[in-house]
Order: sequence, then C-alpha cells, then structure tokens
Amino acid sequence: MNQVWVITSLRSAVKELLENALDAGATSVEVHLCDHGTTSIEVIDNGNGITADDFEAVALKHHTSKLREFDDLPGVGTFGFRGEALGSLCALADVSMVTRHRQAPVATRLKFDVNGRLVERTPAARQVGTTVTVRQLFSTLPVRRRQFCGRARREVTDLLQLLWGYALVADGVRLVCTQQAAAGRRSVLLSSPAVAALPERVTALFGQKQTATLLPLQPTAPSDGTRAEFGLGAAAERTQPKVTVQGLVSSCEHGKGRSATDRQFIAINGRPCDHTKICRLANDVYRSYNRHQSPFLVLSLTLSRQHVDVNVTPDKRMLFVQNEKFLLACVKESLVQCFESLPS
Ligand code: ADP
Ligand code: MG
Repeated sequence: MNQVWVITSLRSAVKELLENALDAGATSVEVHLCDHGTTSIEVIDNGNGITADDFEAVALKHHTSKLREFDDLPGVGTFGFRGEALGSLCALADVSMVTRHRQAPVATRLKFDVNGRLVERTPAARQVGTTVTVRQLFSTLPVRRRQFCGRARREVTDLLQLLWGYALVADGVRLVCTQQAAAGRRSVLLSSPAVAALPERVTALFGQKQTATLLPLQPTAPSDGTRAEFGLGAAAERTQPKVTVQGLVSSCEHGKGRSATDRQFIAINGRPCDHTKICRLANDVYRSYNRHQSPFLVLSLTLSRQHVDVNVTPDKRMLFVQNEKFLLACVKESLVQCFESLPS
C-alpha cells in the first residue's frame, strides 16, 4: 500500500479526479457528494473520455497516458503525469467508471478491484465524457475511515477551499459541487459558470459585494528599488523567467472587514498551489497600506514551464520556481502599483 498516500482526504481524492477531468479537456465538471463524500463521491465530466485500448490499464499503478518519456517531464502541461491517483483510489475504495470516448459509439461501465485490475466491463448509456464513482472512501483502512466519517463536514469545508481555487483559474470551465444527505435534498455548495472573466467568477462564488471591493492586478516589471530589495543584480537579468502577473486584490479602502487569509488563491501556470511566501508578501504589502487585514487575493502567475518544477510533492501543491526572488519581485511590484494608483 505504499502508493496510497497521494489520497489522504476527501479533498485530495476530489482534487485528483477533478484534475483528470480537466486534463481530458472537460468544460464542465460536476462533483456530487453523498453524505459529505463518506458514502460516495461522483465526478462527472464532458472531457474526451477513455479509449477502449486503455480500459485494462487505466487504474493500474503508475499507468498514465500523459507522459510518454521521462524527458517530457520538464515541459509537462497536464495536471497529472504520475499515474498514481486511480490506482490509489482503487486500493482505498470501490471505484467504477462510465466513460465514452469521443470516437466511441457507446459508453462502457468499468469496475476495478483493489489492485486496479479491470473486473467488469459492460455497455452503458452516456454522452462523451467520463463519470468516476468512488464509494466508501478509506473502507480498506478502518482507522482512517472512522476518522474521515467523524470529521466529514470539516473535510467538505477543506474541499470547497480547494475547489474555489480551481473555479477561479479554470477559464471557460463550469464547475459545480453538490452534497446530498442519505434521505435529504441535494444542495449546491458551489457553482461557477463557464465564463472567462475572473470578476464574474468571483461574483458567482463569493457574491457581487466581494467583487466590488477588488482591484485588477497588472503585469509590471520590477522597479530598480524592488530589484535592490530582492537582491536582483543586473547580471541576473538574462536568466530571469518572463513572468506575467494577473489577478484581483482587495482595495485598501475596503480592508476593514474580515481578514481574508482563507480567500487567497495562487495559481502558477494555471495550477492552483500553496505558496506561503507569496501570501506572506501580499499580506505585508497590503498591511503597509492598510494596517489591519489580509487581502482577498487571486493571483495567477504565468512563467515558462521550464522554470517551474511541479514534481516536488505527490499532490503537486508545492511548486519549485527557479529564480523565485524575481517572481516575488514581480508580484510585489504589481501589488504596489495597484495600491499606488488609488487616490489617497
Ligand atoms: P495521471 O493523471 O497521473 O495520468 P491517474 O491515475 O490520475 O494518472 O489516471 C490514469 C489515466 O486514466 C490517465 O492518464 C488518463 O488516461 C485516464 N483518465 C483518468 N480519469 C480520466 C477522465 N476523467 N477522462 C479521461 N481520461 C481519464
Ligand atoms: Mg490524474
């Protein structure tokens, strides 16, 4: 069971399934939880589906269709490439799928055993895309299962935090998450439309009132002062990645409300990630204009793929960025320019 640790929570299970859907080119992804995910988790996408040639191997340990050669790793543009998620889920839960590839005349239902081996394959009805159903998550690890069931509501809160991050950066993707209690009605926890404009997505998730307090960030080259602060010499210039900073941040005038540390979303090359240094920097800059709070922040950073190593942790939430100081300097400059442009 040494591969199981990529899935440690409801949040990590859904993250892997959502990323598979996005890697398959889905423009609509629905996550349906039954009993806060303890009974079942279903992820429905309208992506390309899985070809019949892949059915046997799809959930086997280390099977991936996304990386052909080890040398492809530095330029990998998909969320997945390790081939661990489905195999891990099979080791932890009952996993089945209904998938229809865009060239297949009908869909197929697939069931897998605990080792990820295909044990059932029957024709089914479905549009092009894939539905993955995970029942009884952690049933093979009784202690973990008990812990999961005991904190299921907290796990859903953690999951929503993750889904917000994807909903904010996945332009043109409709993302929905619902929860249903065994005998109850289905309630919508999150619904984000397939629109490209970031402010509209913020409004869909957090309301118009939140959007009205935000300012757009512009890409800005670091000034000489900021360069000096981050110890960036002129000689280093040639090796710096080209960085584009986009996003939204609370305007200082609206900072008197709640602290928004749980509303800070960072994505690098479209990949939502945890980046404490960037959040700390943003909080410091913000507080130098507004003494009290942490800002609401959506920061989408783009730099060439060769400068980012996503293979640091199995969940790929931690990214290693070459020339991190330059990236931080770009973020700082964009924030400063944004706050300086406000009438004092
Ligand atoms: P990885 O994403 O690292 O390749 P996974 O275990 O998550 O590994 O998935 C294994 C393979 O299953 C993927 O490479 C892909 O070919 C296929 N797959 C999984 N989920 C989907 C999906 N929703 N749509 C299409 N293909 C999928
Ligand atoms: Mg995957």
